Amino acid sequence: MFENIQSRGVDQILAMMQTFKADARETKVDLIVGVYKDAKGDVPVMRAVKEAERRLIEAEDTKTYVGISGDPVFRGQVPALLLGAGSPVIAQERVASLQTVGGSGALRVGCDLLNAVMPAQKIWVSTPTWANHVPIATDAGLTVDTYPYFRPSDRGLDFEAMMAHLEAHSKAGEILLLHACCHNPTGVDMSLEQWQIVTDFVVERGLIPYVDCAYQGLGNGMEEDAAGLRIMAEKVPEMVLASSFSKNFGIYRERTGALSVIAKTPEDLTKTLKAAETLIRSNYSMPPSHGARIVATVFDDADLTADWRSELDEMRVRIAEVRQELRAKLEARQVTQDLAFLTDQNGMFSYTGFNPEQVTKLREDHGIYTAGDGRINVAGLTPENLDAVADGFAAVLR
Ligand code: PMP
Repeated sequence: MFENIQSRGVDQILAMMQTFKADARETKVDLIVGVYKDAKGDVPVMRAVKEAERRLIEAEDTKTYVGISGDPVFRGQVPALLLGAGSPVIAQERVASLQTVGGSGALRVGCDLLNAVMPAQKIWVSTPTWANHVPIATDAGLTVDTYPYFRPSDRGLDFEAMMAHLEAHSKAGEILLLHACCHNPTGVDMSLEQWQIVTDFVVERGLIPYVDCAYQGLGNGMEEDAAGLRIMAEKVPEMVLASSFSKNFGIYRERTGALSVIAKTPEDLTKTLKAAETLIRSNYSMPPSHGARIVATVFDDADLTADWRSELDEMRVRIAEVRQELRAKLEARQVTQDLAFLTDQNGMFSYTGFNPEQVTKLREDHGIYTAGDGRINVAGLTPENLDAVADGFAAVLR
């Protein structure tokens, strides 16, 4: 039977990582993978995370199951983090969170939940979107359709086309997937005015907003990066949110995420959580403990929280500075095209607009690895490789 398996094709990014590993050149540069790297090119364990782990190891006195919905302290912290402590939705007891296996697990449980309530319902995703959104939604049974988002001409947001498309084609009850901040792969985000317009449209059309929040704190700050989704959360009757702590805590391999649901009433919320729990039970039964305990320990201690925030701020500032430096170095190399997109886009990713030929040239001639679609991880740039990358980029751009 296994001989009949049709390959679905590996995620392009994973395939590119294999090629990078096999490249023997010492000067090769990895701008592929979406992990934060410091100025030395390392993927560090954050100070507050190390300290929380030390405390956890000492205090841990059991390895019994954590329960289907995960760590209660962690679950209690997530709504305020996303919606703000003063959110009326929290006061109305209309929101709750479940611990999941990373942000991907949150997205999957959320899609399973939506598909359980509305089988094969349409979910609208941006063009482009994170490569895993489509398989996650499809495998959950939902029907994926796309709306325009990125405009290649200025490497910015084509908001008019996005709204015109949704206006013409979306129907009540359909799901609208949005990125909270630091859009992956483009780095192009909506302004708060645009969030307001989408919110009004979602309410008027009766869409279900599903917000993926994987980079809170890495764009403009913890509060700033959630400002758009907060506008929406206060206006819509129902909403689903998937969050990941992989990036803002640097705990990628601990698989820490949360699925949050906003319901019309506390009674609806209870029913929804129960439904999500049955889906989790038949999937992986219960989440792991460690990552959520790290997050809970940090947020439960004011000093650890302050230290975590200051280190997260350093990461965010480094990303913004590297964007400026790359732009300046390209301008100094007489690249004449408008490079404002490099500093306008937010977060770790930049959609360079390199075509497949340029991507190949960068890889083969310069040892600079980008994702196949030209996306670069800006955090992969370091003082050591920045000049070489600028030389390579300038060579393919001129
Ligand atoms: N959503 C987006 C947009 C992402 O970029 C990622 C991570 N690459 C995730 C969700 C999932 O993150 P996690 O590693 O926590 O599953």
